[in-house]
Amino acid sequence: MEPLHPPARKPTRRIFRSLAVVLAAALAVASGAAPAAAHWNGTGQDIARIAVEPYSYNDTWQKPMNKALSNWNATSSPAHLYKSSLSGSTITVKSYSNTFYGRYTRCGGSCLYIKLNTRTINRDASNHANFVTSVLVHEFGHALNLAHNSSTSIMSNSRNRNSMTKPQAHDVSDVNAYY
Ligand SMILES: [Zn+2]
Repeated sequence: MEPLHPPARKPTRRIFRSLAVVLAAALAVASGAAPAAAHWNGTGQDIARIAVEPYSYNDTWQKPMNKALSNWNATSSPAHLYKSSLSGSTITVKSYSNTFYGRYTRCGGSCLYIKLNTRTINRDASNHANFVTSVLVHEFGHALNLAHNSSTSIMSNSRNRNSMTKPQAHDVSDVNAYY
């Protein structure tokens, strides 16, 4: 015979159960997915310390390219870009028939190839130095796993490349969240 009313649960048990629910929710947040505002794709380099082979171009290119490295290095993030002849990662500046300004390719967890297109950059830049820096900072953003987005970001394809030369607050916080 069944009792008319199920025996009341012990209050302690109920408390443990609700604690477990709270803990599970906290763990889900701690280990969980990217914050809603983050923009990364995980297709970049394994660590934020990124070496590239030393490159040598004329000053019109060399200086703004160097600035792209130092602009990332100046951020409050683990991003650190430096030159090392042991790297195997290369930045190549030449005229490509493709429509891109710059292109990042991952060749391994610590290997990358970046191409800068003299044809399109020379054609479209009004401030050449800024434009070159902006494109290379953007490509390094891909190396740091950042994806395109449409906010105030070096990763926005509608940014003004003639004036935006630095990683923006959004980009820095994304890198900090990723690494
Ligand atoms: Zn891009």
